[in-house]
Amino acid sequence: MTDQPWQWDEKTWRGHVEHVRAGRPLRPAAWPGGAKVAVALSFDSDHETPALRDGDVLPGKLAQGEYGARVGVPRILKLLRKYNAPASFFVPAVSALLHEGEVKSYVDAGHEVALHGWIHERNTALTETEERDLAFRAADVLEGLAGTRPVGIRTPSWDFSAHTLAITRELGLTYDSSLMADDDCYELLENGEPTGVVELPVEWIRDDAPYFMMDRFASLRPYTPPRGVLSIWRDEFDAAYADGGIFQLTMHPHIIGHRSRLTVLDELLDHIAGHDGVWFATHAQIVDHVRQELK
Ligand SMILES: [Zn+2]
Repeated sequence: MTDQPWQWDEKTWRGHVEHVRAGRPLRPAAWPGGAKVAVALSFDSDHETPALRDGDVLPGKLAQGEYGARVGVPRILKLLRKYNAPASFFVPAVSALLHEGEVKSYVDAGHEVALHGWIHERNTALTETEERDLAFRAADVLEGLAGTRPVGIRTPSWDFSAHTLAITRELGLTYDSSLMADDDCYELLENGEPTGVVELPVEWIRDDAPYFMMDRFASLRPYTPPRGVLSIWRDEFDAAYADGGIFQLTMHPHIIGHRSRLTVLDELLDHIAGHDGVWFATHAQIVDHVRQELK
């Protein structure tokens, strides 16, 4: 293989694209109970793990993550209870081990617990063996704490290595939620072959992190006020409702769990709950429903 992309032959560039690709769209004819929209709320309970992953082990940065577990999670669980809305929590294993009882608190409240790496590792920097080992160890930890083995994965930072899909299949997972080739679910193809693995797609537009994160020493600053984010997410929901599709959100307890932001999430859920035919469901429940299309 030549080095420069403009020198690649067709087999090479086509091969890169076809390694992991969207297959069959999985938009069901109807949602359960005749609902008009499926609402898939998710929270990535990263807490301290991105700082630890970066080797940033001083108390300042770790405390920002600790806030997510101490303050964000209880507020989020209370808010979800208010709307009777089951959600999915993607939890790095180290995060689950650091915060005793948190995974159980999700399960006891009827939420889903799913994979989100070992320590929020960068899977593209790992060997295949390391990535597989961490994924299997993480599944064992979550199974031990939740009582059931996770059925889905969201890769840390949505990164996908050359081996991620193969490892997802080895783990026997029914879905991934890290890719972006549609607004609705689709089946993942690996080198052109159907895998039976469902993708429940994400998007940075529907993630709290890009709107709110800041770094004191870099130029990274929040550029959208919370009420600006509310209007974007409300438009996303209204259009998903009109389409009869999925409205999916990715949030983080240490980011969305702050007062001015959770107020906005409360207003968004109030707007959503004011519609007829809203199905609040976990990612696993939505995937179970659309998988009927695969049969
Ligand atoms: Zn994460």
